[in-house]
Amino acid sequence: MECIFCKIARKEIPAQVIYEDMHAVGFLDRDPRAAGHTLIVPNRHAETILDLQGGEVGTLFSAVREITALLKKSLHADGFTIGINHGVVAGQAVSHLHVHVIPRFMGDHGTSIHAVITNPPAESVEAIAKKIMALN
Ligand code: AMP
Ligand code: ZN
Repeated sequence: MECIFCKIARKEIPAQVIYEDMHAVGFLDRDPRAAGHTLIVPNRHAETILDLQGGEVGTLFSAVREITALLKKSLHADGFTIGINHGVVAGQAVSHLHVHVIPRFMGDHGTSIHAVITNPPAESVEAIAKKIMALN
């Protein structure tokens, strides 16, 4: 498959791999937003979390946890921003699911995940909850 992250997972193209297990690989982003900015991908190609099957969600996030612990210990990160650009509309440029783990440091002048979007709904939170739960 002509997918760049599949190729990294299969070691067909180089990357700074800092973690691997049976199900996932973690490698440094080549255009880091901070030291240690890591991408964690499932070995099996999937575009979004909706394309993962049962246990694959758990194994991916176990890898995210391991990598977060590794970065905290090795780079002395004070915190992390952990997120997924999920879908093109959300900024997903590579169509192989990847979780960004971005180390945060005191005084790094970064902001929180709330800065990503300001698009508050016209309807009340209660009305939206009803709409969502109506399908459940
Ligand atoms: P996203 O917008 O979430 O799809 O982000 C894709 C990320 O992948 C960007 O931060 C890129 O810098 C990173 N990236 C793309 N190609 C590579 C590569 N070959 N090795 C490492 N990072 C990559
Ligand atoms: Zn892929």
